[in-house]
Amino acid sequence: MSTTPHIVILGSGFGALSTVRELRKRLCNAPITLVSPRAELHYLPGIIWVPSGKRRREDLIVPLAPFFARMRVRHVQADVTGLEDGARSVLASTGEKIANDALVIATGGRFIKKLPGIEHAITPCEGIAAAEKIRDRLKAMQGGSIAIGFSGNPQEPAAVRGGPMFEFTFGIDTQLRQEGRREKFEITFFHPKQEPGKRLGAKAVQGILGEMARRGIHTHLGHKPLRFEAGKVVTEGGEIPADLILFMPGMTGNTWFDATSLPRSPGGLLAADAQCRVQGFSNTWVVGDSGSFPGPEWAPKQAHMADLQAAAAAQNLIDALAGRPQSAGFKTELLCIIDSLTEGKLVWRTEHRNLALPRLRLMHWAKSHFEARYLRQYR
Ligand SMILES: Cc1cc2nc3c(=O)[nH]c(=O)nc-3n(C[C@H](O)[C@H](O)[C@H](O)COP(=O)(O)OP(=O)(O)OC[C@H]3O[C@@H](n4cnc5c(N)ncnc54)[C@H](O)[C@@H]3O)c2cc1C
Repeated sequence: MSTTPHIVILGSGFGALSTVRELRKRLCNAPITLVSPRAELHYLPGIIWVPSGKRRREDLIVPLAPFFARMRVRHVQADVTGLEDGARSVLASTGEKIANDALVIATGGRFIKKLPGIEHAITPCEGIAAAEKIRDRLKAMQGGSIAIGFSGNPQEPAAVRGGPMFEFTFGIDTQLRQEGRREKFEITFFHPKQEPGKRLGAKAVQGILGEMARRGIHTHLGHKPLRFEAGKVVTEGGEIPADLILFMPGMTGNTWFDATSLPRSPGGLLAADAQCRVQGFSNTWVVGDSGSFPGPEWAPKQAHMADLQAAAAAQNLIDALAGRPQSAGFKTELLCIIDSLTEGKLVWRTEHRNLALPRLRLMHWAKSHFEARYLRQYR
């Protein structure tokens, strides 16, 4: 190891940026290089408000140059393409080879877009552009049918993004009501299981399905989607008419992992231990959606978890560089507000508790307030 250890962090999403903050908070003065395609944070939880116009692209993108300057981070604008020397060298798409003494991988996940006809569906969680597409499609529609659904990665139960799909469903319903044209639309929610979002807890699922019924949102549950076609979703249980299809497939690992010998979980994520260490690789940690961690079957893939894992990884990294044992772990906690544009439902789950509050206006404002407060630290 060189005299001044050099830390390299991959990605500039929640996990990567939290790792930077957590390292500096612990007075780690080592030089940090961060590699990501853009010096920007895209606040993904806020894209649910793009279709209604409550948020615009510029509200959700935080340029990171000031944060990097404050945190003394060198940013390399590139995609990571691979690793060499047992992860001590990072290969960047610019051709640069970046040596490191400690590496934190936080390049998020990738959606499994393999269902036939997937090009007929919008994958909302892919980011701001996808949410803008939904906004524009809704605006252009005079009426018709909308089908919204999600599924998982059977090999990786945690790699699912269901919460936001409930938010898009309720948000679009509310938006169409506010615009006075809800009666011109049929909305159908589809999911391969009878209980969508089961990891939120039984009470939350009951509440969500009850809310769909109350709003006149049809459900098509317990049938695996087979394919998408122009104007319809085809499932094992029949067809759903759909002029607009929003579908979130399950998640798997980034394609750049394939060019490495990093260990993979059955679902394709990076196999990690409870200290966020990538198994079998020294001084290499993973946080957030990229990793497969030990934990309960309901463990969520959330920004909140990425933040908790970043704190553990930062502490373990500092301890490892100082030659101390790594013992920092993270708690598993599901915490979200399922928003419907005017109200929000707080769901909280830990090892011992599972809370699902009724929809409250206050929770909608709390979500908005949290966003502003969270983003302030990067502005
Ligand atoms: C619509 C929506 C709503 C959500 N709501 C919530 C919520 O309410 N609460 C919550 O806690 N979570 C929520 N989430 C989940 C949350 O956004 C993710 O869990 C979180 O973004 C994961 O953080 P991450 O750092 O692992 O990955 P990401 O935030 O996806 O960041 C990955 C980073 O890696 C970069 N990258 C990718 N490939 C490469 C490469 N080859 N080389 C270098 N860099 C690369 C990307 O550009 C990005 O900067 C929501 C997600 C969506 C989409």
